Amino acid sequence: RKLNFSAGPAALPEEVLKQAQEEMLDWHGHGLSIMEMSHRSKEYVSVAEQAEQDLRDLMQIPDNYKVLFLQGGATTQFSMIPLNLLRDKKTADYINTGVWSKKAIAEAKRYCEVNIAATTEHNNFTSAPSQDELKLNLEAAYVHYTPNETIGGVEFDYIPETGDVPLVADMSSSILSRSIDVSRFGLIYAGAQKNIGPAGLTVVIVRDDLIGQMLPSAPTMFDYSIHAAADSMNNTPPTFGWYLAGLIFQWLKRQGGVEGMQMINQRKAEKLYAAIDRSAFYANPIAVANRSWMNVPFTLADANLDKRFIEEADQAGLLNLKGHRSVGGMRASIYNAVPESAVDALIAFMAEFEHKHS
Ligand code: PLP
Repeated sequence: RKLNFSAGPAALPEEVLKQAQEEMLDWHGHGLSIMEMSHRSKEYVSVAEQAEQDLRDLMQIPDNYKVLFLQGGATTQFSMIPLNLLRDKKTADYINTGVWSKKAIAEAKRYCEVNIAATTEHNNFTSAPSQDELKLNLEAAYVHYTPNETIGGVEFDYIPETGDVPLVADMSSSILSRSIDVSRFGLIYAGAQKNIGPAGLTVVIVRDDLIGQMLPSAPTMFDYSIHAAADSMNNTPPTFGWYLAGLIFQWLKRQGGVEGMQMINQRKAEKLYAAIDRSAFYANPIAVANRSWMNVPFTLADANLDKRFIEEADQAGLLNLKGHRSVGGMRASIYNAVPESAVDALIAFMAEFEHKHS
């Protein structure tokens, strides 16, 4: 297997893929695969419940939070959040730190007045706003932000303080990468395809007093309380994704949980940024305190070499390093499943490429 730096769908732990492969034709001696089982069977329900419990353990999710295993991707949450959380309010606060914040904002504007509590558009989204820069509205139904901007590579180095107004976080590209205090949030959501498992599953962690008051005309399938009451089985859930997420959660526990992963992630990110900073050949424009641990964009001093870099990286077995089409350059996504040895290999490749072409 090659080293995969994709932003998503992203690398999965090899150990987990092998386990899934072993179980594929005959799950635990039942003579069929997990994908072919009823979601209502006691076997599948136990897999689903174990996955939820493991996620609760990993993130230390308090009992007054529901954990939902949904479909529709993080993008569907851009509408479910206002539809469920606005209640009798007319406005919501959004912090704008880049492409994904903007998409969430555009969708929310279809349902409510959006107050931009802060934006870093003036510096081309190369930093996150500080707590002091947030202009929060006490009347807002919630405050939405993107702790890690996958495309820009900008990550908050703090959790915004929002008083009594619930804080909502799009953790698609940072969930389970470092420990966080879930009780600081009203709602956390993440598409699975980076740090959780295969695409097609979306995890929502929501404080239970925030659900049950959806806009009456909204679709039933958008109602968190329906999914919560049915243990995410109001209809057929994404059974394979949920199962595989469960295997990932167990793998994560074997790595020392989120705290163990956090140490590895910090080390991986620090050595990659150090390699970029050490050389005039490579650059990363993000304010040091807000450099993402998960998505590391970088440019070459000579953009004419970009294509060469990608080609030679591919030949060396380092895949998916091309930056997002909206920013150009390169991007190395180094999620939980990307081992430290892959980051070491990337750093060695970068030094070699620089040597060859400068
Ligand atoms: N939010 C962030 C931060 C993302 O990185 C992504 C996807 O890549 C999304 C939202 C969209 O997720 P999905 O494709 O699951 O709708």
